[in-house]
Amino acid sequence: MAGRLTLVKSVITSQAIYLLSALRAPKEILNLIDSRRKKFLWAGCAQITGGKCKVNWLRSARPKECGGLGILHLTKFARALRMRWLWQEWASSTRFWTTLELPCTTKDRQLFAATTSISVGDGTKVSLWNDAWVQGLRPKDIAPLIFNVSRRKNRSLSEALWNHTWIWDLNLFSVEVTEQHIVEYCRLWSILQRISLQPGICDSISWKLSEDRQYSAKSAYLAQFLGSELTNMNWIIWKVWAPPKCKFFSWLAIQNRIWTADRLAKRDWPHNATCALCGQTLESGLHLFVECRLTKRIWEEVAVWAAVEGLIPSNWDCSESFLQWWTSLATTQDCNRKGLRSLLILVNWTVWRERNARIFDHKSFTCAQILASIISEASAWIRAGANQLANLLASL
Ligand SMILES: [Zn+2]
Repeated sequence: MAGRLTLVKSVITSQAIYLLSALRAPKEILNLIDSRRKKFLWAGCAQITGGKCKVNWLRSARPKECGGLGILHLTKFARALRMRWLWQEWASSTRFWTTLELPCTTKDRQLFAATTSISVGDGTKVSLWNDAWVQGLRPKDIAPLIFNVSRRKNRSLSEALWNHTWIWDLNLFSVEVTEQHIVEYCRLWSILQRISLQPGICDSISWKLSEDRQYSAKSAYLAQFLGSELTNMNWIIWKVWAPPKCKFFSWLAIQNRIWTADRLAKRDWPHNATCALCGQTLESGLHLFVECRLTKRIWEEVAVWAAVEGLIPSNWDCSESFLQWWTSLATTQDCNRKGLRSLLILVNWTVWRERNARIFDHKSFTCAQILASIISEASAWIRAGANQLANLLASL
């Protein structure tokens, strides 16, 4: 799956993105691409059953810091790409296409207005109604009723101010003027009254979301996740050195999305009645990786070998979930934490493999043999570039 994840990101998604920057794709097309990406990721083929799709697609298509796999959410990324047109319209207004209709939606324009700030110079480039030049707001949002009755919605600010042209543009006879019309009119009038244009200085725009104040597709994309719940997945899994398949496994396991016996039982699917490691109780994620007698013995051995006291099971805090336990161990004091996080992934991965070997291959290893396999795997990881893990184990 980790390999397919890379292919989903770099092949299927990239192919779509090339076209999405120029076209406004219908929702149905995006859904179709999503369905193909989903089937390929979870099943590697054109058909998929519920058992294979372990995590909801919307969750998978979130940035890693928000708990997802970092697969691009197509609707949101397409919006980020279309916003580039709006930026370019400002930044390079001499291009031939600037007089053509842009493939942007109302929502694109609203987000663009919220992510940019405009400083008014001579007012020739700023649109009176459509640009967010009033402390980040567009006059069409400040005075929507007045905007509706204006006959010229594309006036530049300098045209509009000249001789109060914007007032002559209003067609107040076409509607029944209400109190709200008067309120909005006065508000806009006072804003325009205060503005003083600076001849000879060009209007300019800056992007609020990046340090260099220039548009970037990445920041436009991530802005659409502002307010989403943040998770610690990035620093306990994705930024840690480990082979991609082990990280993918960890991501699933932490969310309780691997097929442990308790989850199989809920669906009435074939499963072992008791934990394959201790044979005592129904297997759950928390039991298998944290509470199981054998797992604790493995951790005791690992703690002694790695010389990290915090890893000894009797020193663990009581945890209600696997994620809570993982987070608490990942923040253990007085050791190389980045290396420790690699070790956490390695040991959990080994426990899972031991469990699978017992169930599917009818082979079981002793605690000493399991420790030996962890040690040899760790040295393979170090040879492959796990420098922090090497630092953690340097004293050995
Ligand atoms: Zn057990």
